[in-house]
Amino acid sequence: MLIGGIEAGGTKMICAVGDENGTILDRKSYPTRQPRETFGELISYFKGWDIKALGIGCFGPLDLNRQSETYGYITRTPKQGWENCNVVGTFQDALGVPVGFDTDVNGAVLGEVTWGAAQGVESAIYVTVGTGVGVGVYINGGLLHGLVHPEAGHILLMRHPEDHYKGRCPYHGNCMESLASGPAVEERWGQKGHLLADRDEVWELEAYYIGQAVADYILTYSPQKVILWGGIMHQEKLFGMVRKDVVKFLNGYVSHKMLQESIDDYIVAPALGEDPGIKGAIRLGVLAL
Ligand code: ZN
Repeated sequence: MLIGGIEAGGTKMICAVGDENGTILDRKSYPTRQPRETFGELISYFKGWDIKALGIGCFGPLDLNRQSETYGYITRTPKQGWENCNVVGTFQDALGVPVGFDTDVNGAVLGEVTWGAAQGVESAIYVTVGTGVGVGVYINGGLLHGLVHPEAGHILLMRHPEDHYKGRCPYHGNCMESLASGPAVEERWGQKGHLLADRDEVWELEAYYIGQAVADYILTYSPQKVILWGGIMHQEKLFGMVRKDVVKFLNGYVSHKMLQESIDDYIVAPALGEDPGIKGAIRLGVLAL
């Protein structure tokens, strides 16, 4: 059975056709322009395949409340032309198949829970630290929604006493995205992250913020697996530094052998490489059937 998936990001949209076991048979990437033209291209792509369902992991914020009149919409976004955009309705009308829909990061955590590093657990989080910071939350066997959906990339953090950078988020000076995202690194240090690989102070500060955030997520969500990814986490040494800072911030309060003995297996990179998002989208499609 063929299932379609879309990982819909602010700069590009990845489409794939796979099967219900997450094997990807074909994929194509399109630049994100305006909804009408980009969705038109995606719809033509899927019309070439006999898909039975479609799953979409989408940049947000989104309306995920099925009782709402604007369910399946991107709601307010600074991205021009995309505010109040009806994503689910557009694809459902054009393709005539069930459409599963969630945030990009919820899609990614679902991919890792189904086929990746978090298989077999009841609760897991997927934290991406890149152009933005986002957190997908899988709790007690399902994706977490609520009043809206978690926006844990914007949790407020304790600032490092020597960090005087103003912050990057237009809403909060001291949130995780404001202090630790890729654009924050570039603005604070004057260069992109990958050009700062040998500057220890850059990564110590990143680990201080990411470690603090992950400690907060452990305290609130109690995940059995923490998956970290995004452009910033491609700096491999950061994993060890973040693990150390997580332990430091928890300061022994949360007592579990995963933290004391197996933290290398607890805070990990995705097992699906660069594919948790697109495979998660295919899983969202399977679940929509
Ligand atoms: Zn913020």
